[in-house]
Amino acid sequence: MYVADCLFCRIAGEEIPADVIHSDPEVVAFRDIHPQAPTHVLIIPRKHIPSVTDLDSHEAVVMGRLFLVARDLARKEGIAEEGYRLVVNTGRGAGQSVFHVHMHLLGGRSLEWPPG
Ligand code: AMP
Repeated sequence: MYVADCLFCRIAGEEIPADVIHSDPEVVAFRDIHPQAPTHVLIIPRKHIPSVTDLDSHEAVVMGRLFLVARDLARKEGIAEEGYRLVVNTGRGAGQSVFHVHMHLLGGRSLEWPPG
């Protein structure tokens, strides 16, 4: 559940400070330290799951909750109307640098497609 040397486990456990904008028994969301858009929030399960590749079927509900928190935060941030992007980098080749699964919520500017 909790991995002592995992940055995001430590943020969820309030051992490392972050700009937390949502916290509930299953899911935490905080602003990215190097924002790539006016709104850039990371949404994570409290449970330590390294990446999408490691997901188990019983984790489907908590992963679904990441989307619901993203939906609510997009409304609160005022980007729901304009549109936003949800990104889950999976594996080093796709740019994953923190191996605690997380969803990026990006918005507040126009977003190019395809992504780099
Ligand atoms: P990824 O590259 O998809 O694994 O995303 C990891 C994200 O975590 C990057 O966008 C980083 O800027 C962000 N990040 C790293 N350290 C912190 C931190 N201490 N607080 C908030 N965001 C962080």
